[in-house]
Amino acid sequence: MTKLPDIPGQNWPTLDPGWVWLCGAGPGDPGLLTLHAVNALQQADVIVYDALCNADILDLAPASAERIYAGKRGGKPSAVQRDISLRLVELARAGRRVLRLKGGDPFVFGRGGEEAQTLVQHGVPIRIVPGITAGIGGLAYAGIPVTHRDVNQTVAFVTGHDQTGLAPNAVDWAALAKSAQVIVIYMGIKHIAAIAAALIAGGRDPSDPVGVVTDASLPQQRVLETTLSQAAADIEAEGLAPPAIICVGRAVAMRQVLDWQALAAGAAPRNTDPLARGRPAEAS
Ligand code: SAH
Repeated sequence: MTKLPDIPGQNWPTLDPGWVWLCGAGPGDPGLLTLHAVNALQQADVIVYDALCNADILDLAPASAERIYAGKRGGKPSAVQRDISLRLVELARAGRRVLRLKGGDPFVFGRGGEEAQTLVQHGVPIRIVPGITAGIGGLAYAGIPVTHRDVNQTVAFVTGHDQTGLAPNAVDWAALAKSAQVIVIYMGIKHIAAIAAALIAGGRDPSDPVGVVTDASLPQQRVLETTLSQAAADIEAEGLAPPAIICVGRAVAMRQVLDWQALAAGAAPRNTDPLARGRPAEAS
C-alpha cells in the first residue's frame, strides 16, 4: 500500500461503513490522482467505477475490494443512471465502505451532482473528492493552457451531447461563439461537424485553431491541431475516437511552444512566440 505523506495538521479521513465517497480519478495518468483519492482507494471495500477510470488506478485498491463496473453504453441513460444511484444507496445501507470513482472531476459532466443528491435524499452520508478534469488537465498534457492573458478572459466548458445524447441542441453555440474566446468541449467528437458549423454560423472565425486530445494523459494520448472549418474532416481522416477533449480558440496555438512531451523527447519548440507578441513572455 502506498503510504500517504505525513503532512502536519492533515489527518487522512476514514471511510466509514455506510458512507459513500464520490471521488474524481483524473483524466487517466495515475499521477494525477489526489491524495484523498488514494486514501479512499485504500479503504474502500466496494468501488463503483466508470468506463473512463484507468485500470491501473483500480489496482491501487486491495485485491479484496469488490469492483463494480457502472459504465454507460448508450440505450436509456436516465434509467441506467437511476440504477447506479440506487445501487450506491443499497451498498451504503448494507454497511459497505463505498467508493464511487469517476473519471476527471465528479462534478464536471459526470452526473456526480445527481448521484450525490440521491444519496443525501436517502440519508446516506457522503464525502466529495474533486479530481483533475479532462478539460483542464487533459489539455495541459497536450501543452494547451485553457487561459492565457493574451487570448482569453473567459473559458467555457461545454458538453457536445444534450440530455437525449443525440445532438448538441441544448447549447446556444452562436452566443458561445461570441462570448467565450476559449471553448472546451467534452463529448464533442461525434457531433463536431454540427458544432463547428454552428460556431462559424455564430460568427467564429473558420480559421480559429482547434486542438483535439484523445486519451489525454495516458500513454496512448493523441493530439490533433486543426482549425474550426477543418476539424470534422481532420478528425475523421486521423481516425480519432473518444474519449476526446476539444479546445477551440487561440490558446491552442500555445502548444507550438508548450508541447512539453515533445520537448522532453528532445524536439525543439516549433515556435517560441505563437501568439506573435513580439516580445519576451516575461515582458508585460
Ligand atoms: N468528469 C469527467 C468528464 C466526464 S464526461 C471530467 O471531469 O473529465 C466524458 C468526457 O470527458 C469524454 O467524452 C471526453 O470528452 C472527456 N474525457 C474524460 N477523460 C478524458 C481523457 N483521458 N482524454 C480525453 N477526454 C477525456
